[in-house]
Amino acid sequence: MSRLTFGDNFKDLSTDHTFQFEFTCDRCHKAWQSPPVPYDAKPTTRSVSNAAESAVGTGAVIEGKVGDAAYETARAYALDAAVEEAMWRFNQCRLCGNWFCEKCFDRNYVMCVHCRLA
Ligand SMILES: [Zn+2]
Ligand SMILES: [Zn+2]
Repeated sequence: MSRLTFGDNFKDLSTDHTFQFEFTCDRCHKAWQSPPVPYDAKPTTRSVSNAAESAVGTGAVIEGKVGDAAYETARAYALDAAVEEAMWRFNQCRLCGNWFCEKCFDRNYVMCVHCRLA
């Protein structure tokens, strides 16, 4: 869903109330964690009653869906921001496409040490 990509080299550390992601160098596995972003869940009583009201007449039960969509949207934004910041700390190899820390990357060749020495 994200515009930006960081391959599979990140972990989602998010909880119900905080969004946080951990990015790792593909070679030495040095990790960087994005600053936690608090998520203020809307009062569930309100969204549930809204959902219940709009469901009247249709017979549809959409309880809980409203909150989930808001959470997913907020999480996508938080991930975008985290990836953007991670891009300042990691470098993408133009050959293998993976992400590496300063130590495992040769800026002159825009390649990771792996590909550079291969
Ligand atoms: Zn590294
Ligand atoms: Zn590479």
